[in-house]
Amino acid sequence: MVKGSKQTPALATSRDLAPDGARERKSAGAVEVPVAALRGRPAAPDVSVGELAAADVMGLYVHFPFCGVHCPYCDFAVDARADIPHDAYADAICAELTVRAPWFRQQREGGHLREPASPRLVSIYFGGGTPGLWRSEALARVIAAARTALCDPTAAGATLEITVEANPGEVDAEKLRALRAAGVNRLSLGVQSFDDRLLRALGRNHSAAAGPRAVAMARDAGFENISVDLMFALPEQSQDDWRQALDELVALGPQHVSAYALTIERGTPFGALARKGELVVPDQEQAAIMQELARDVLAQAGLVQYEVSSYAAPGRRAVHNSLYWTGAPYLGVGASAASFRPLADGGGWRFSNPRATATYFRASRLGGGSPTPAQVERRTSSDLENEAVWLALRTSDGLDRRAHARRFGFDPVEPRRPDVDACVARGWITVDSNAIRPTASGLLFADEIATRLWR
Ligand code: SF4
Repeated sequence: MVKGSKQTPALATSRDLAPDGARERKSAGAVEVPVAALRGRPAAPDVSVGELAAADVMGLYVHFPFCGVHCPYCDFAVDARADIPHDAYADAICAELTVRAPWFRQQREGGHLREPASPRLVSIYFGGGTPGLWRSEALARVIAAARTALCDPTAAGATLEITVEANPGEVDAEKLRALRAAGVNRLSLGVQSFDDRLLRALGRNHSAAAGPRAVAMARDAGFENISVDLMFALPEQSQDDWRQALDELVALGPQHVSAYALTIERGTPFGALARKGELVVPDQEQAAIMQELARDVLAQAGLVQYEVSSYAAPGRRAVHNSLYWTGAPYLGVGASAASFRPLADGGGWRFSNPRATATYFRASRLGGGSPTPAQVERRTSSDLENEAVWLALRTSDGLDRRAHARRFGFDPVEPRRPDVDACVARGWITVDSNAIRPTASGLLFADEIATRLWR
């Protein structure tokens, strides 16, 4: 991160969502591993080495890359096709889980777990792509494999958040009941808009009516924790359009909302249109007004902003995303999925699988279930300390100074004193003896704050 960058609002964008490899923040320390290396001996560093840092909890991310269509704005790791290899993909995921789960357990000494104990699995997140398309039996097989590989059998009954992303128009009542029966207890619906005109402009393959219908069906199927994704700053979207969308969203009564601005990514059809001047979207100032409107309207409905793009009813914050923001370990399996192994020396390994599905399958076979990572980063303690400040200041809870000092050995404020004072003077953060917290307007400038506080 470079100090002194232009001040722009840190809008919630599609890149802020749960990380598959495509969404992960790329650092200067990244080691790119050529795909050709997959054919010979693995060339990547051994990310399984090093003692795991003490941690209470961990998460599992399962990437399902397949989609019914490839939306023209999307640069995620997506494989749009009709002939989804449901079982072959589940087989690959289960094999990967078996090999990699031990990397996230504390070492055994004489058959006994060394203190501290291994982290407890608290979340399984199926992201994509569109994991709602996965045949339910195959998805259930992955959940069972994850429980076997990562759950402590003596902790049976412990709460485990299991989320599946799905699209309206691609789920029906039977499918939703099957997901619920498989143990899925949280559904994340990619509604995106309640306006047929805007959905068409986005290239989505569902109608405006499909969103509310999917929410109602999910509720009937027994889902009590439903998250709805909604996008703003869309082509030809007015402030009135956005206000109406928020009202329709509130009427649905979801427990959680992710509201984020459309980002125009290079290499996508939208990126090409924008370059030619054929795609006009609301400017940053208009988008910031939309984000503030979302904050206010959703707060009135009891959905409180707790992160730049995330809003929740009481007790319904996303367990999974909170793991990413607090530096907890997570295992990511499947094409493009990223993992993080924090180490006892204060640093950690971050690595991600090959992005293309065919490459992932091939690498998985060559690696006996564990594909050679396509990207590996050895993060130092200093890297992770900066990341901890950056991520915490994207959340309304902010950064707990004592917990930070326990983890890194020093208080986060003192080494940054002039920059902290400058952010306080701008009204972006507040500081007391317990925490640094972003203000409401500070959440709009989260990236700028992070840039200033990066050491
Ligand atoms: S459905 Fe979602 S993941 Fe698939 S192409 Fe569209 S935006 Fe991307």
